[in-house]
Amino acid sequence: MRILAIGAHPDDLEILCAGTLFRYKEQGAEIFLCILTDGSAGHRLIPPAKLKKIRSSEAREAAKFLGAKLFELGIKDEMLFDNEPTRLKLIEVIRKARPDVVFCHAQNDYHPDHQAAFQLSFAASFIANLKNVKTRTVAPEKVPYLYEMDTLTGIGFEPEEYVDISGNYRNKLNMLFRHKSQAKWLADHDKIIIEELVGTQARFRGYQCGVKFAEGFRLVRGWGRIPTTRILP
Ligand SMILES: [Zn+2]
Repeated sequence: MRILAIGAHPDDLEILCAGTLFRYKEQGAEIFLCILTDGSAGHRLIPPAKLKKIRSSEAREAAKFLGAKLFELGIKDEMLFDNEPTRLKLIEVIRKARPDVVFCHAQNDYHPDHQAAFQLSFAASFIANLKNVKTRTVAPEKVPYLYEMDTLTGIGFEPEEYVDISGNYRNKLNMLFRHKSQAKWLADHDKIIIEELVGTQARFRGYQCGVKFAEGFRLVRGWGRIPTTRILP
């Protein structure tokens, strides 16, 4: 299996699907991460040019910890739109990763960049196999399955499938801790302790399905993209 997780900002994937990615990794899957924006707006004191370097290096550390290949699109934070140049960049990433499964943000998540990330992921994962849409890499034969990740704190999101991440919850947190600057931003800007936020959500989703910690997902249904067996670990 080849898995591609697409997040709007550095640290989104750790919060919303890292436990599941570690489960896939244990099964021998190849994991690819794509971060769409540079995360340059997320701090009170550090200016954007400096911050985007810090966040990129934290994201690389996190990807290394998971053992995943990282793609960074470098779009300006808070300015993510589903437009032609960004679609083509994401199509190229999808063609390089050739995923069987793509994880993306939920369509109704709280942040405009997350909503744009859903639209981009939906479009690019569908279009990537059309040969007449040219990028540097050739088009793959099939369209991957697409799953929405949970929303931040689960608002407006009813999972359809759950993944037991009890055995990988520590790994999820340790991967998240690579994003030191973001943990500080959330503490200063939102008065949030990141491990409490993530732990509460994983525990709550765990209660819903009868395990200690879980992550929740929803399949994006569309013609040609509906599996007949369970795909998630
Ligand atoms: Zn985000």
